[in-house]
Amino acid sequence: MESVNPTTEETIDSYAEYTDGEVETALEEADRAFADWSQTEIRERQQLLANAAEILRNNKQEYAELITREMGKPVSQAVAEVEKCAWGCEFYAERAIELLQNEVIGTVPEAKAYVRYEPLGVVLAVMPWNYPFWQAFRFAAPTLAAGNVGVLKHASNVPGCALAIEEVFEKAGFPESAFSSLLIGSSKVDDVITNSRVRAVTVTGSEFAGKAVAETAGRELKKTVLELGGSDPFVVLEDAPLESAVETAVTARNQNSGQSCIAAKRFVVVDEVYDEFTDRFVEGVRELEVGDPLDESTDVGPQARAGLMEELHEQVEQSREAGATVVTGGKPLEGDGHFYPPTVLTDVPRDCPAASEETFGPVAAVIRADDAEEAIEIANRTRYGLGGSVWTEDLERGERLAGRIEAGCVFVNEIVKSDPRVPFGGIKDSGYGRELSQQGIHEFVNEKTVWVQ
Ligand code: NDP
Repeated sequence: MESVNPTTEETIDSYAEYTDGEVETALEEADRAFADWSQTEIRERQQLLANAAEILRNNKQEYAELITREMGKPVSQAVAEVEKCAWGCEFYAERAIELLQNEVIGTVPEAKAYVRYEPLGVVLAVMPWNYPFWQAFRFAAPTLAAGNVGVLKHASNVPGCALAIEEVFEKAGFPESAFSSLLIGSSKVDDVITNSRVRAVTVTGSEFAGKAVAETAGRELKKTVLELGGSDPFVVLEDAPLESAVETAVTARNQNSGQSCIAAKRFVVVDEVYDEFTDRFVEGVRELEVGDPLDESTDVGPQARAGLMEELHEQVEQSREAGATVVTGGKPLEGDGHFYPPTVLTDVPRDCPAASEETFGPVAAVIRADDAEEAIEIANRTRYGLGGSVWTEDLERGERLAGRIEAGCVFVNEIVKSDPRVPFGGIKDSGYGRELSQQGIHEFVNEKTVWVQ
């Protein structure tokens, strides 16, 4: 397993993949760890999560540089990612007791009836490289707080991050094997899912990976949570606060070098403000600094792998051939590294890839709508349903329209984001289940009814 720097294309390090025997041993140890960990006081788990948060904060620069070297994210954004992981740990360090307390059932006067939230066991997480720390901590913090143990099968291009995350938990004082990384490729995931010690699986990644995992898990009757792709609409109405809409639009599409499931991908703008929005948006996009992600002033780094950039460019080319206009960007930059410039497409035809598929890189499709009604129709014209945003000064109207967008989360006058305090997840081909908040900690628990007569 090799970790290759996408900026320089140099191999950083290589790692031996785990043998089948090593995987088996890791799962046995995880299962053994569960026996004790599930019986610990929640207060103790909270303390260890607080320790993990402190370790993350104290070492944020080191972890950020590791992230940047392995997958190319601008280092300032990598620092923010590590800080967010600390926040996720702190959230559950403060709230786990409250979120896991028994729920008394008020509709059974003849008995004492309540729901207890008990852990399930070993939970496998199949995670992607785009937020290599955050995706893993978003899973790990609630899952461990609930008393489960976690095994991480991280993306094959970020093995250094996988091991560093394991080390954070070790240093925080978690019992051995409460959280471990399995260095394996995707072809070995089925064997892990079918292993009797694994009780549930969560996946963040492509639909292809999600379907493959869910199929095997389904056959094995194991619960899954799937957080897959998205083609989030960013709806700009005629009464939008244009300055903040434009500023946020530039960030929403290009943060993480465009490689985010909840990046705004389709900018649906009503006719009245279309020209002004588009001009200002293109201007903002052109001002982004593309370059060495280790440089603090860089806004957009390389794409994480050569193949991913080629796929993105293919989507742009096909959209152009179908009639889209490339206003800025549109072809890979010359030289070392997988650099794709921030790109804006207009006149985007309905069925071309930029309008109908997930574009996992800095490529924005700006689409004109006659009015709010048509904007909502276009926003929902996708098989995905992860997030969406609506921009309007009329907050009541914003909320009404938020109710009509088919997505797991809609933000009015704010960037779509995952925040530990609110649930996160999708509908339609974006997957199912929720991460974070109360819903997230309740995904991998036995909601056990107790009835005392
Ligand atoms: P993948 O979905 O292939 O990778 C995500 C994780 O799933 C990795 O750990 C990968 O392992 C694993 N995986 C892949 N195939 C299988 C399988 N058949 N069974 C079990 N596990 C599997 O994403 P890519 O990196 O190839 O990116 C492709 C596209 O996926 C992107 O262009 C984007 O559209 C989408 N994506 C969405 C993300 C999100 O946040 N929702 C994140 C990343 C990608 P391995 O690395 O070993 O192949």
